Amino acid sequence: MKLFDDDFIVGGFTAGASGIWTRTKPTDPPTQDYTALSGELGIPLSSIVRPYQANGQLAAIVGTEHGGMGVLSDNVLKKTDGLVTSDSGLVLSIIAADCVPVYLADREAGVIGLLHCGRQSAAGELIHNGIARMAELGAAPEMTELFLGPHICQACYEVGAEVRDDFALSFTAKELERIFRREGERLYLDMAEAITVKALREGISRGNIHFSRECTCHGSGFYSYRRGDRGLQNLAYMMKKR
Ligand SMILES: [Zn+2]
Repeated sequence: MKLFDDDFIVGGFTAGASGIWTRTKPTDPPTQDYTALSGELGIPLSSIVRPYQANGQLAAIVGTEHGGMGVLSDNVLKKTDGLVTSDSGLVLSIIAADCVPVYLADREAGVIGLLHCGRQSAAGELIHNGIARMAELGAAPEMTELFLGPHICQACYEVGAEVRDDFALSFTAKELERIFRREGERLYLDMAEAITVKALREGISRGNIHFSRECTCHGSGFYSYRRGDRGLQNLAYMMKKR
């Protein structure tokens, strides 16, 4: 499904027919899902880039020279969970099955970014690093729009106390109150709230932060790790048109 499509950017989130967006070996051909997406967008496979994600903190600046990496050929973007570009016609993509796809755009500067934000990255530095890489290309946080794509909702996301301990290293007690809901012994994590707090800290304005209401776990249209899907993923993509 397309999440937005205007004269500057197109972006979406799709399970694909089979949810297989990775290849076992770099020499394998691109998966059918990539081929279908390429046809749908009218963009060649050599213009799509996918990093090797690691639930980490790194965001990389990419350009048309990275086109096809992770899709048609091997990838120099290792342990990378965020992509940033100012090049038009290059499709940034990440895979996710409950983690949050974070779409960023500064229309004025002509810079976009796409982050794969799981809980380690939300507690860590990925949001900061993504916005910092965009600034290197001339983007300004106060001009940047942020959109959170489909991800696991708080009601579906029960976590252990160790996750809250981890978050306590980078969030205040007051922020933790908003990010975690307690029901008796159970703790539920609100990823959207955690990312919002981090984005506001970086200077993105609240009015520029928007959400998808879709949950990958209790909704039926997407793959979900929590619901039991293994090795099957959804793909988030974003391209600057001009
Ligand atoms: Zn849910």
